[in-house]
This record gives sequence, structure tokens and C-alpha cells, in this order.
Amino acid sequence: MLKGERPAECAYCWIIEDMQSGALSDRVLETSRYSDEKIAESVRTPIEQDVAPLTLEIAFDRACNFACTYCNASFSTTWANEIRQNGPYIGLTSQGTKVFTHDSEWSQLFKPGQTNPYVEAFWRWWPELSETLEELRITGGEPTMHPEFWRLLDHLSDHPTDMRVAVNSNLGVKEELMDRLIAKTRNIAQFQVYTSCETVGRQAEYVRDGLIWEQWLTNAHRLMAAPHIQFSVMMTVNNLCLFGITDLLDLMLDWKAQYGFRKISWLESASPAGSQTFATAETAF
Ligand code: SF4
Repeated sequence: MLKGERPAECAYCWIIEDMQSGALSDRVLETSRYSDEKIAESVRTPIEQDVAPLTLEIAFDRACNFACTYCNASFSTTWANEIRQNGPYIGLTSQGTKVFTHDSEWSQLFKPGQTNPYVEAFWRWWPELSETLEELRITGGEPTMHPEFWRLLDHLSDHPTDMRVAVNSNLGVKEELMDRLIAKTRNIAQFQVYTSCETVGRQAEYVRDGLIWEQWLTNAHRLMAAPHIQFSVMMTVNNLCLFGITDLLDLMLDWKAQYGFRKISWLESASPAGSQTFATAETAF
């Protein structure tokens, strides 16, 4: 990219940027969190030099109890099981990866309970990594379903940190587990929970198969009421949510009035083809 070339692996961002000038691709959005000095330094750093990352996003595996329409088997065991049991979806248009036609077996090299050398490598790296890391994001699947997630929270709970820590959860978990999440993160100075929803009620349950609307609401309120938690709702805007999308936005405004303007934010992306994200924009009001 520094030579002005477009590596094929980065097509995800080129597609968005080619759609219209000014469209925000992930690389622009993700880079915007760093200072101009840090960005200039990274450009000057030789490509072969080892660097200590400032941000790390980790997914311990793809275990997930939901099968959202815009997701796929690479990220969700429920999606994978559904395709294994009922076969591929036929006649759907998607990009080259043909996401709805296979169970993405390649994305789960190690079965639950098996030793995962990548996870072991992460723990060996962690003492050095945690010295320099400014931001840790934990995603999945649904991260709260994985024992290593709780091991990491135990560690963060025992070693107070000012590192920014973010967890991406579908909130489709028992209240006791939410309480455990709240309790285990009290020593983290900057802790953020991201969740996703695009519409309300039964429509939301249809778009995100597995979601129980009342449970999502209850858990959202639990998190927002915790003083140390910053709460964000991500929206993958798709055809199925359009008729209820403003109801969700009204709900967010009510929450902002109830819990504070700065407590809650949301992030939108558009998904016209179901599983493919084409444009991303951060909304703040
Ligand atoms: S909750 Fe997240 S990981 Fe699970 S199916 Fe939905 S989008 Fe995919």
C-alpha cells in the first residue's frame, strides 16, 4: 500500500472507498483513533521491524448462540450448525466467499476443550503485550461463552489497568452472567460494552435469530446502570430492519436522557446484501 498498490486481501476497504468518494472504510475509521504523530511514525517504521501493537482485537473462537441474518458461519457456531443440519442456502447472491453455502469449518481448527496453540501463544505474549497495549477489544462469536474470556477478565480484575478494554456481546445471556461481567470489570478504568441491534421487538428477534428482546433490554439497562461502563449499540442496517429503525433510535434517545448523553453511543453500518458490510459511519448526537 505504501507503494501505491492495492493488496487483494484489503478488498473489503477498496470496495467501500470505490462506491463513492468520502465513504468511510474500516481502515479510515480504525486509523482515526491514532494521533497524527503515531500515524506518521507507523509509516516511517520499516515493514520488517517488530512493533508493539497499541490495539489488539481478539476472538477466542466463534462460539455464538445467535444466527443473525447478516452474520455467517465464520463467526457463529449456530450458523454453522444450521447449515450442517439443513444444507446450504441455494440461489442467494453473495460475494466470492459464498458465505451462506458452507459451515466455514476452517475457522474452527480446534474443537472446544482441545488445546489451542494460538490461545497459548497469546498468554505467553500477554505479560509483554499488556505493558504497551492501549486498547484491547474482545469479540467472538459471543465472547462470554468462552472460558478464556473469563480467564482474561480475572487477570484484568486482579491487575488494575488504564488500558481501554471493549467487549462485543450480543447480550443474549443470563442476568447472572451480566452481573459477573459487571463485577469483573470494575477495576478497568475505561471499559466499554458494544452490542448490536437495528430495530425493536419481534422484528429485532427476526433479524437476529436467537435474540430475546426483553432479555436484551434488561441486560442493556443492567450495563447502563453500572457507573464504570460505557455502552454502545452498533447497527448493521439492512432491509429487514428499516420499518423499525427509527423506533430503536427513539429508544436510544430516551436512554441518553435517562443515563446521560455521554454514556451511550451507536455505530451504524449498512448491509444491503445480508452479510456484506458496505459502508460505515459513526453517528454521535
Ligand atoms: S451475535 Fe454476533 S457473532 Fe453471533 S451471529 Fe450475531 S453477529 Fe454473528
